[in-house]
Amino acid sequence: MKKIIISGLMLTMCALIFAQQPPAGQQQQVPGAQRQRPVEDSTIRMTHFQTEIWNPEIPMVQPAEKIGDAPADAIILFDGKNIHSEWEETGRGGVVKAATWIIKDGAMESIQGSGSIRTKRVFSNFQLHIEWKTPSIITGNSQGRGNSGVYLQDLYELQILDSWHNRSYRNGQAGAFYKQYAPMINASRKPGEWQCYDIVYTAPTFGKDSTTYFTPPRATVFHNGMIIQNNVALRGPTTYVGIPEYLIKKHGPGRIMLQQHGNPIAFRNIWIREL
Ligand code: MG
Repeated sequence: MKKIIISGLMLTMCALIFAQQPPAGQQQQVPGAQRQRPVEDSTIRMTHFQTEIWNPEIPMVQPAEKIGDAPADAIILFDGKNIHSEWEETGRGGVVKAATWIIKDGAMESIQGSGSIRTKRVFSNFQLHIEWKTPSIITGNSQGRGNSGVYLQDLYELQILDSWHNRSYRNGQAGAFYKQYAPMINASRKPGEWQCYDIVYTAPTFGKDSTTYFTPPRATVFHNGMIIQNNVALRGPTTYVGIPEYLIKKHGPGRIMLQQHGNPIAFRNIWIREL
């Protein structure tokens, strides 16, 4: 009888203890301690001011009246009149002389026997706008038709070619980083019509090793308003024959060069914004 009474009392005590336990998954409150707020709730106590950055204020730059024209902070590299203030010509053997390209109808144009031209200034990171036109009368084919090029920092060629119904190797047509990246699409206009490139370029950086990039040069290009190169990492200097990676040499700021490739290509409205 005594055993039965003790067992009964123990069962009653257990029932009382379990009745006081919190449901599964609920933390037990410790008297006097603050309840821990889960991490995902931590923004609840923030105000919107805490994530607003006011200074320094973004500088205002007057945009052009017409998209494609130079905004107020651009360096005008060619205004349709004067070639000599910003450009010089490189002849055979690297001889530098005054540009011999002709100015016609607000554009500058290479002539037979002239060399490539390059800016007198050097640049690192930039946004470049340049308009170009291949001859309206088609002569030649593939790489022989309307060939020129915009060299970034003297070394990296963005190809200019009359690629309007003119098959050539895909990584050598208009908008290609020559023999490195084909353009995403062929955005070419007819020969004799004005076209444009808008280029955003980030210069490479170098570490201790002067023959490899620490960070490679990168470029984004729009051809006639359409993106054709999306933040590509250039492999090395442009080369007609060989492997670009083998030609990497540490360099600083460089010029914009317009290639003379034997075809009369016209250029106009060239401006650059340093970044
Ligand atoms: Mg070329």
